[in-house]
This record gives sequence, structure tokens and C-alpha cells, in this order.
Amino acid sequence: MNKSESFGKIKWVDTHCHLQLIEEELSGNDFENIEFLIIPGVDYSSSVRAHNLSSKINIETYWSAGLHPHDAKKIENEKESLIELFHQADLIGETGLDFYRNLSSHEQQCENFLFHLEFSKKLNKPIIVHCRDSFQETYEMLVEFNNTSPVILHSWTGGRKWTKKFIDLGVYFSISGIVTYETAKDLQLSVKEIPLNRLLLETDTPYLTPSPLKGKDNRPNYIEHTAQKISKLLNINEKELSEITIKNSRNLIKR
Ligand SMILES: [Zn+2]
Repeated sequence: MNKSESFGKIKWVDTHCHLQLIEEELSGNDFENIEFLIIPGVDYSSSVRAHNLSSKINIETYWSAGLHPHDAKKIENEKESLIELFHQADLIGETGLDFYRNLSSHEQQCENFLFHLEFSKKLNKPIIVHCRDSFQETYEMLVEFNNTSPVILHSWTGGRKWTKKFIDLGVYFSISGIVTYETAKDLQLSVKEIPLNRLLLETDTPYLTPSPLKGKDNRPNYIEHTAQKISKLLNINEKELSEITIKNSRNLIKR
């Protein structure tokens, strides 16, 4: 891609893309409409790869270190090495609770989430939270912990009731390609409730490909399909949505 091709494109921030999980070579087209991006780790080795990749790719990139709720069972083995990475990382996570797939026990997931919350607070770094079939428990843990650093609810899927409750906690809501799906009516209503200064966009690459491209692996540049859907839902133009979400994303990173 040369400069003139990307010139004039509306830019977006992809706040959640697991580029380190992609095996093929990345191309300039994957980032043609990207202002900057965040690569979240899901365990120790993928966090290290996120770090390495962030200095290699030719675009402004941030990275995070964390242990995904699916892998919370590895916490005892990974704790010490993750703490070292937390000090270097731009953000903490991906962590959180997933009581849908339950690949680690609830107890391990809660211990893991708390571990990340503690370091997010201590180091004053934003925390990336995965929350699936665990709205109540995630909400209670956030209230109880009283986190003082920014919280990002990644790939938010909650309905209006939970969205309103979490709004009161001052969290950021990151919306993925799920919002483009026919079945996502509740989420589409929720998006209209989110305060504009708490709205973020993401792809969750290589997962959750937006509906027009479903069946392919997701890529950062596909974020525009998610953005188009949200701009229609909110009845604001894409340029305005781009400016708002870039500003929110920068507020998170550069505090
Ligand atoms: Zn993720």
C-alpha cells in the first residue's frame, strides 16, 4: 500500500486485535484505515509475542500482558513472569470472567481477575476485561475492588440493563463485529445507551469478523464495517465517530 491509497480513508483505532495469533504475513492493507492499535496478550508467551510484534509493525501500536480467563488455570505457573511483563506493558489483560465456556474453574478465574486488578491499580494502567455470561460477577468484583485505573469491557455484548449498570462504574465499552450480526438486537440497543466518551471499537482479530465478511479470518481494516453499523445506530457520521473514538482511545493510553 502506498501513501496515496490510505490518504483520505477515515481512520479507526482497533483497541483489541490478537495479531500475534495470525500465522500469515501481515500486509499494509491490514492497517490501511488504522490510526493505532492494541495487541492484547492472553498468556505469558502470547504477551511476549505481542510485545515483540508491537515494535516490529509499521504502525503505532500498544500491547498488553495478561492471562485470559480460559487459561486462568495456569496462574500459579505464570504469575511471576506476568508480573515482570506488567511493568513493561502499556495495558493489563486480557483477563476477566468467562462462565460460558468455563475452561478454568470459577475460583481460578476470580483469582486471576483479582490478580490483574491489583496490578492495574498499583501500576495505574488500563485493564482489558473479557466478560461472558458473567455480568453479575464481573460487576460485583469491579465494585468491590473499586478500581481507580480505566476499565475496558472488551467485545461488550450486554443488554441495556447491564450496560446502564456498568455505565455507572465509568468503564469503557469496546464494541466488536458482533454488533453487525442480525442476532445482536439487544447489543444494538445497548450501543445507543453508551455515553459517547466511553465508546471504543475493536475487531478481536482473528475472531468475530463483521457480518459482510463472515467466514473469513478477521483483520484490523475490517473494523470499518463495525464502525459503519455503529454510526447508523447512533445517527452520527463516520468522520465524527472516528474523531470521538480516536479521542477516547488516546485518553486511555496517554494519561
Ligand atoms: Zn481477546
